[in-house]
Amino acid sequence: MARPSLTETAPVTLEQLHARWADLNARYFSGALPPIEIVWSARLTSSAGMFVSHAGPRSREDGHEGRARRLIRLSTPLLQHLSGRELLSTLAHEMIHQWQFDVRKRRPDHGEDFLEKMEAMNRDGLRITIHHTLDEEVSAFMTYAWRCLECGQDYRRQRRTIRPKDHRCGACLGLLGEVLPGKLPRKRRRIHPQHLAAQYRPSPFVQLELPFTAA
Ligand SMILES: [Zn+2]
Ligand SMILES: [Zn+2]
Repeated sequence: MARPSLTETAPVTLEQLHARWADLNARYFSGALPPIEIVWSARLTSSAGMFVSHAGPRSREDGHEGRARRLIRLSTPLLQHLSGRELLSTLAHEMIHQWQFDVRKRRPDHGEDFLEKMEAMNRDGLRITIHHTLDEEVSAFMTYAWRCLECGQDYRRQRRTIRPKDHRCGACLGLLGEVLPGKLPRKRRRIHPQHLAAQYRPSPFVQLELPFTAA
């Protein structure tokens, strides 16, 4: 069976995306964001957008001009059903993470600097949000769920691809626990780090990409 090509399903072309990226960069970041690869992903279904980096914000070990390789991934299956405004707010959300990573040299999160930028951009009507839970569009794809035992970040996947033995939270490196499908409690449970310390293993693990979602 032939798979539909991305150009058939992507809501806008990469050229149009880069034009919007450049516009937002000039308007809200004083043009300080260095160029970044933006890709449409047919396989990304855990979030509408995702800022991905393969090394820390201060790493110089790979990439050009001493920058670690990083990119912005956008979900074709999720964004093709959403409006252009939602696509723009998703791109803007990921650009704030890029700014945290490239300019502020810190690990992307939804901390104070994120909120300040978000509010400044929202004053102009961009409607960026921080999603802590996945919206219906996204969760329809998801069968399995894990929750960070430390910060409460949720991770959902279509298949059981997260192994708590090998994976750690993308936000805080905390341990993950699998939750029964459909049983994710509304309220995040915080477990004091002190109770987790004994469980940390020295073995290598994979830090998960944060499922950044913008409405
Ligand atoms: Zn965490
Ligand atoms: Zn985010």
